Amino acid sequence: NVRVRFAPSPTGPLHIGGVRTALYNYLFAKKNNGTFVLRIEDTDQTRYVANAEQYIIDALEWCNIPFDEGPGKNEKFGPYRQSERKELYKKYADLLIETGWAYYAFDTSEQLDSHRKGHEAEGKTFIYNWHNREKGRLVNSLVLSDDDVQQRINAGDKFVIRFKTPQDETLILEDEIRGTIKIDTNALDDKILFKSDGMPTYHLANIVDDHLMEISHVIRGEEWLPSLPLHSLLYRAFGWESPKFAHLPLILKPVGKGKLSKRDGDKLGFPVFPLEYTNEVTGDVSRGYKEDGYFADAFINMLAFLGWNPGTEQEIFSLEELVETFDLKRVSKSGAKFSPDKTKWFNQQYMQQKPDAGLTDLFLPILAEKGISKDSDFVLKVVSSIKERAVFVADFWELSSFFFETPTEYDAKASKKNWKEGTADLMQELITVIEGIEDFSSENTEKVIKEWISGKEIGFGKVMQPLRLSLVGKLAGPHLFDIIAMIGKEETIKRIGNAIK
Ligand code: GLU
Repeated sequence: NVRVRFAPSPTGPLHIGGVRTALYNYLFAKKNNGTFVLRIEDTDQTRYVANAEQYIIDALEWCNIPFDEGPGKNEKFGPYRQSERKELYKKYADLLIETGWAYYAFDTSEQLDSHRKGHEAEGKTFIYNWHNREKGRLVNSLVLSDDDVQQRINAGDKFVIRFKTPQDETLILEDEIRGTIKIDTNALDDKILFKSDGMPTYHLANIVDDHLMEISHVIRGEEWLPSLPLHSLLYRAFGWESPKFAHLPLILKPVGKGKLSKRDGDKLGFPVFPLEYTNEVTGDVSRGYKEDGYFADAFINMLAFLGWNPGTEQEIFSLEELVETFDLKRVSKSGAKFSPDKTKWFNQQYMQQKPDAGLTDLFLPILAEKGISKDSDFVLKVVSSIKERAVFVADFWELSSFFFETPTEYDAKASKKNWKEGTADLMQELITVIEGIEDFSSENTEKVIKEWISGKEIGFGKVMQPLRLSLVGKLAGPHLFDIIAMIGKEETIKRIGNAIK
C-alpha cells in the first residue's frame, strides 16, 4: 500500500525544487495506485508565514497535482498541520527517555557557544554527542544524578530532549536513488528532538507523523540526506518499520555553480515560483510561471525532466504519460541544471498542441481590453495562422495586430530597401487588379496577383515585399494571401492606398 507525503514547511512560497518534490511524490503515488498526502510542517513558529499554506495548496491545484489527503480533505489520518498535533509529540519524546534512547540536556546557549568556539580554536568541529560527557562539560541527564535532573526540571530550568546516538557503529542505509550509504555513528550529533519551547523539532515530528500516517516512501530533496542516519535510528529506537527513502538531486543554477536559489529568479529574470508571490512584510512581488503565461502542463513536463528522464528520446509527456513512465530508478544522482530556454521551449511545444478554440478563448479578452471586438471565428483563424510562432498567449497580439488594425507605421529599414522608385505606380496598378477580383479567397487572389506579376515580367519580390509592408507594416507574419483573404478587399485596398501616400 503506497502512501507518500509532501511535507513542506510554510515559510514562504514554494520554490520549483519544492514543486518538483511534490510532483515526483504525486507521480509515484499515482503510478502505484497509492495515496498522496499533504502535511504542513509548521512546528518552527519563528519562520512561519501566514499565507504560505494557502499558496502551497493553490500551487498544487494550478499544477494539476492535487493531494488525496491533507488539510481539509479526507482527513482520516488528520490533523495534517503539525501545529494542530503538538500535544501528541511530547509523549513520544518521553517514551525515548524511558527506553534510554534520549536524554534531557540543560546546556545553555552560552555554554554551547563556548564549547563550539573552544573546538574551533583547536581546528575541530564541535559535535554534541553523549560520549563527550567524559569530558565533563556537557550538562545533561547522562552525567547528572537522577535527583539533580528532577530538581532542575521541578525548578523550571530550561531543557531540551536529545537523541542518544549509538556509539561505534557503522550504519548501512539504503536510498532508492543513491543505493547503499555507510555512516559512522561517532560522527553524528545528538540532535534535539524536543525544544525548550515545548515544541518538537522537525526530526521528531516528521518521524512520528510518517509513522502514524503510515507513509511507505519518503521522497524528498537531497538537502535532507544528512538527516537520514538520525531518521533511520529513530525508527529503530521506536521499534517501528522504516519507510523507504529516496533523495532527489539538487536543481542547479542555469549559469555558474550551485543550487538554484529563490533569489536567482528575480536576479536573472525568470520565475522560480509556480505562482506569483507577494511578500507580506516587504511588499516585494516575485514572478510566477502562471502569471508569466506558462501552461501548467508545459511547466510540469519541464519539471519532470529536472532530475528524471525516461531513457528514450521522447520529451513531451502528458501528466498521464508521466504517471505511466515515471520510475524512481531513473532519477539521477547528480544535480539537474535548470534552463530558462528549455522551459520556454516546452511552452512553445505545448502551444502547438493546444486546440485553437481554447487559445482563442484566451486571446479574446486580450483583444477586448484593446477595444477590439471581432467574432470568434475570425479570431480563431488568426490564432491558427500565428500560433506556431508564439511561445506565450501574450505574444499573440504582437504577432497578429495587423489582422485587426491598419498599420500606421512602416519598418524604416525594410521600406528603404523595398519601396523604390516606381513602387508607388506598381501598387496603384495592383489596386486596380485587386478591385477586379471577384472570388476573394486566399487561393484565388494568389493566382490572380501572381499571374499579373508574371505578365509584367518583373521579380515577385518587387510586388510582394511592398505589398507585405503595406498590409503588415513590416516584413513578417503568415502567408500574405491568407492575410489578404482575412482582412478583405476593402481593407486591402485601403492599406495599399495608405502606403502609397
Ligand atoms: N518540512 C520539511 C521541508 O520543509 C520536510 C522534509 C521531509 O520531507 O522530510 O522540506
